[in-house]
Amino acid sequence: MKLFQPRYRDGDRLALSNGHTLRLSVNKRARRLSIRIDTRSREAVVVAPSASALAQGVAFAQTKAEWIGEKLDHAVEGQPFKPGMTVGLLGRTIRLEGAAGVGAARLIDLPDGPVLRAGGEGDAYSRRIENWFRKQARLFLLERTEHYLKALGQAPVRVSIVDTRSRWGSCSPHNRSIRYSWRVVMAPERVADYLAAHEVAHLVRADHSPEYWAVVEGLIGDHKPMRQWLKHHGAQLHAIGA
Ligand SMILES: [Zn+2]
Repeated sequence: MKLFQPRYRDGDRLALSNGHTLRLSVNKRARRLSIRIDTRSREAVVVAPSASALAQGVAFAQTKAEWIGEKLDHAVEGQPFKPGMTVGLLGRTIRLEGAAGVGAARLIDLPDGPVLRAGGEGDAYSRRIENWFRKQARLFLLERTEHYLKALGQAPVRVSIVDTRSRWGSCSPHNRSIRYSWRVVMAPERVADYLAAHEVAHLVRADHSPEYWAVVEGLIGDHKPMRQWLKHHGAQLHAIGA
């Protein structure tokens, strides 16, 4: 007779009946089994509170195979920046071009619209374009953060530009720091502006209570269209350059 051994381990990957990949993950703080979709790695992840619960998690995922397949088939695929692509920058449409002998990306205003030129190929090209967008994000978001800090009579905060997996920003009133995803700079200007107002307003109230939303409204008026925009286009912006 065999001694009991967990059949599955944290980090294991297996194929579901529909051919999609399922990654097994143990999180001791999880209270129950759950399944999430990782659009970047294009796999489903089952999270269980213990290794011994993974078998049950695998069975659970099999019953959800159809739902998983639908989610993964509709997930936006990661798209590195490539010459020929057009990308939004605060409401402007920018054409990407490759140019031999050019290093870092440079924006050129041509009669038929702005063109962003960079050298390199593949990942190197994509990275140069991303660096340029990150710089634009920093310039814009620093300025808007300062604007809303003044409006609320708040002291300065530390601002970092990051690339979080799904969030647009976060604010820690305790550490007086705000983090923004650089990707929001690919959205229309009023959406990126809303994000700054959203995070700065958290210095007044950390939650999302009606009182908090009243602070946001005091800064920018009706915030619903911007939240709607992020809801509808967010996944797309998270996939570009990824
Ligand atoms: Zn918030």
